[in-house]
Amino acid sequence: MVDRLANSEANSKRIAVVESCFGAAGQPLAIPGRVLIGEGVLTKLCRKKPKARQFFLFNDILVYGNIVIQKKKYNKQHIIPLESVTIDTVPDEGDLRNGWLIKTPTKSFAVYAATATEKSEWMNHIGKCVGDLLQKSGKAPTGEHAAVWVPDSEATVCMRCQKVKFTPVSRRHHCRKCGFVVCGPCSEKKYLLPSQSSKPVRVCEYCYVQLTSGSLPPRSDSMSRLGSKFNSNNLSDDEDEDDSSD
Ligand SMILES: [Zn+2]
Ligand SMILES: [Zn+2]
Repeated sequence: MVDRLANSEANSKRIAVVESCFGAAGQPLAIPGRVLIGEGVLTKLCRKKPKARQFFLFNDILVYGNIVIQKKKYNKQHIIPLESVTIDTVPDEGDLRNGWLIKTPTKSFAVYAATATEKSEWMNHIGKCVGDLLQKSGKAPTGEHAAVWVPDSEATVCMRCQKVKFTPVSRRHHCRKCGFVVCGPCSEKKYLLPSQSSKPVRVCEYCYVQLTSGSLPPRSDSMSRLGSKFNSNNLSDDEDEDDSSD
């Protein structure tokens, strides 16, 4: 099916439409062999709250962006190579239904479809694309993935010490290893997680101990010390803001 579509005019036209909706700020998406499998609006669970995002599933990448004008204009394009994606179902909870996790080494997040049918279609198609890619390349599925961030609203107190209450002054931070919402004192350390950043990133005290007590990676350890020396007084919260798109 995919191979037959790959060279079809209809497929090329559909991809050209997606490109034009993202405009000049988007990446060129038409490459030989790429097929647009499907598209739709999914609710992405962002740091502050769930937000509608337009998603496009190609046979090798997942693309999403903010909706400026429905079906006409999108911005803040993100491209995720499917080869590094793993998906996991999320149980329904309150208003958040029909969800699953999209996990990658650099970023992981939850999305929600409007119906259970849509959810299973998305999950089946993504799973099939990832499987086909891995089969073609002979690579093993990605083992490591970035933590899924717990949304700010889920934590009124620090999830590690359970003591510090969050206020406009006592701000929330996210551990890049476990994704917990933690207070400043519980997340003073930084550690190099190369799949997420070339610089050491904020981790909670618990994860720091786990990371440093295991096998000894001398280079990352020394870099994380360097990082925490520079940032021991973390007054700035900027780095903790979710990326500009969300
Ligand atoms: Zn704390
Ligand atoms: Zn942690």
